[in-house]
Amino acid sequence: MNAPALQARIAAARIGERRILQGIDLAVPVGRWTAVVGPNGAGKSTLLRCMAGLLPCEGQVSLLGRPLADWPARERARTLAWMGQQEAGGEDLRVWDVVMLGRLPHRAWLAAPTGADRAAVDAALRATQSHALRARRLAELSGGERQRVLLARLLAVQARVLLMDEPLAHLDPPHQADWLATVRALVAAGATVVSVLHELNMALQADDIVVVRAGRIAHHGAAADAATHQALQAAFDGRIAIRQVGDDWVALPRAGAREAA
Ligand code: ADP
Ligand code: MG
Repeated sequence: MNAPALQARIAAARIGERRILQGIDLAVPVGRWTAVVGPNGAGKSTLLRCMAGLLPCEGQVSLLGRPLADWPARERARTLAWMGQQEAGGEDLRVWDVVMLGRLPHRAWLAAPTGADRAAVDAALRATQSHALRARRLAELSGGERQRVLLARLLAVQARVLLMDEPLAHLDPPHQADWLATVRALVAAGATVVSVLHELNMALQADDIVVVRAGRIAHHGAAADAATHQALQAAFDGRIAIRQVGDDWVALPRAGAREAA
C-alpha cells in the first residue's frame, strides 16, 4: 500500500504551558482533498502547522512515508506547500514578487528566475484570477485579493501536498467557486489537498472530512458518510443540520436549537 501523503502521530503539541493537541493519529491519503473542520479554538491551525513542520510537537509527522526531519529542506519545501491564516509581512512587495517567492525552493541561491519559474508564476496568477493585480503592492489589496495572491504563491510551488488554513476567508462566492475548481483540478492531477474550512458547505464537497474538537480528532471519514454528518452536528452542538439538496449535502444553521438542547 502507498504511504499516506501525511501521517501525524502527535501525543501532544504545546504552545507555552498550554497543551493544544493531544492523542492525534491521522493519516491523510494521497490524491484526495481533506477538509479540516471544527469550532473556533479547537486546534485546527495548530494541527496544520504541526503537519507542515512549522510547530514542534511531541510525536512524529511523516510526509509521503518519510519523517519530516529526514527530508532535505529544499526538497521538502518543493513537496509540501503551505498557506497560513492571516499571514502578515511583505506589505511593500509587489504581487508578482510575492508569488515568485513560491519558486524559492526550485531556484539556485541568488539565481535569476528561469523561464519555468516565470511560467509557474504566470499560471498561478491566472488560476487565481489575480493576474491583473500583478504590479500592485500587497498593502494595496483588499482581504479577498490578498487571499487570492497567497493562494497563487502556494500554487506556484507546484507541490504534491498542499496545506491551506482558511483559504476561503474574505473570498466572494465566485472566487470560492474558482478555488473549488482549482482544488478539484489539483486532486485530479494527483495532488493532495488539506484545507481548514469554516464554510461547512464547501467542506461537504471535499472527499474526506476531519472533525477537530478540543484538541483531538473527533472523526475522520468520507464527506458523504452519515457518520461524518453526525460527527459534524455533534461538533457544533447540534446547531447545524445536514440535509441533501439534489446531489449535494448542505449544512443549515438551526435556529432555537440551543434552547431545545
Ligand atoms: P483553530 O484554528 O481551530 O481556531 P488554533 O489551533 O488556532 O484553533 O488554537 C487552538 C488553541 O490554542 C486555542 O485555544 C488558542 O487560543 C490557543 N492558541 C493558539 N495560538 C496560541 C498562542 N500563540 N499562544 C497561546 N495560545 C494559543
Ligand atoms: Mg485557525
